[in-house]
Amino acid sequence: MKHIYTHDNIVVLHSAKNILALNGIESFVKNEHTTPIGSVHGINNTFLELWILNDEDHEKAAAIIENEVENQSPKDSWICSACNEENDGSFEVCWKCQSAPSANQV
Ligand SMILES: [Zn+2]
Repeated sequence: MKHIYTHDNIVVLHSAKNILALNGIESFVKNEHTTPIGSVHGINNTFLELWILNDEDHEKAAAIIENEVENQSPKDSWICSACNEENDGSFEVCWKCQSAPSANQV
């Protein structure tokens, strides 16, 4: 097993994990369940680590993360059609009401 990526935002880490999975690389998140009860991920700087299962995938995984996670161009923010709240472009659902953006906003 090898450590491949660290981020304090579980959403970013899981998207990295998903991208690796799409490329056939198995990985898992460490420290995910060690956050103190009552705290919210991303607020108290609990750094989470992404590890890959197979060491031989490390080079490929590092390249994928660099290209597809680190260098992602910022997306435009979008307005939720359900509650009219503005959302950061990196959000997949509305932070307020958890609605997905409508098709023409993606
Ligand atoms: Zn909303």
